Amino acid sequence: MRLVTYMDADGRETVGAVNRLNGKIGPISEFGFPCTDMNDLIERASLRDLDDLEWHTAQTDHPAYRIDPASVKILAPIPVPRQDVICLGLNYRAHSDEAAGYSREAFTTKDPEYPVYFAKRANYVQGSGEPIPAHEDVTQKLDYECELAVILNRDIHKLHLDKPEKLRKYIFGYTICNDVSARDLQTRHTQWYLGKSLDGFTPMGPCIITAKEVAYPPKLKLQTYVNGQLRQDSCTDQMIFDINRIVTELSQGMTLKAGTIIITGTPKGVGMGMDPPTFLKKGDVVECRIEEIGSLINTVE
Ligand code: MG
Repeated sequence: MRLVTYMDADGRETVGAVNRLNGKIGPISEFGFPCTDMNDLIERASLRDLDDLEWHTAQTDHPAYRIDPASVKILAPIPVPRQDVICLGLNYRAHSDEAAGYSREAFTTKDPEYPVYFAKRANYVQGSGEPIPAHEDVTQKLDYECELAVILNRDIHKLHLDKPEKLRKYIFGYTICNDVSARDLQTRHTQWYLGKSLDGFTPMGPCIITAKEVAYPPKLKLQTYVNGQLRQDSCTDQMIFDINRIVTELSQGMTLKAGTIIITGTPKGVGMGMDPPTFLKKGDVVECRIEEIGSLINTVE
């Protein structure tokens, strides 16, 4: 099932389910799931509730399905995350190499047996169609990173699983994130936090696809186009550390709250890896695509 957050005719942020037959959006409150926003749904809906909701998305006769997606503003699925977004650095081999080629000092892992974790502040997450601010007064090296975002469906603490596929029950769904990065800030400061956290640096969307719809572990084609030119072209099965490793490792000493967003790293093909390095400028259109989820398109302004 695909879930979206959109602005209704009265300017209210609303959660909707996308009908799988006709593509129309139905506000989920009309299926008996009142919720204030996506975070509220994630916290309160059981797997059974989601199954019921999913059943509705295969029916066309429900009067709720009247909203043409082109007629409303689609927002990011979670426009205001409750916490910083958890990020993986250097989680695809060829990207790790291109990053080290750009700055060995800033992009070399201390121990290849352990993932690089960092965080990203996201006060407001833009949806597809909303701009990426250029921040020309702060950075001259603006870059993109297409990533699979994993959204957790319950609080997780000290998770141990006998079978990796059981992790699927803990995942609410997936979306696309562009982990926009200011490379000059990222390399100038010892930690990446500032260079990753400028306002508007975390576009996500266009929808959440629920975990049940995607085979686990997800094997989804991932691509980025800049002004129509293919830059990144990989698959989520190329991650060095998979979602199982990430979630179980983090949860050993940290409670991961329901609604936590984890972005799983980007493959080769970012601007700093080009020869010569090529950064985003005003007017550039960045399209991040992941199979099954769709396209996240943002213009630098
Ligand atoms: Mg990243």
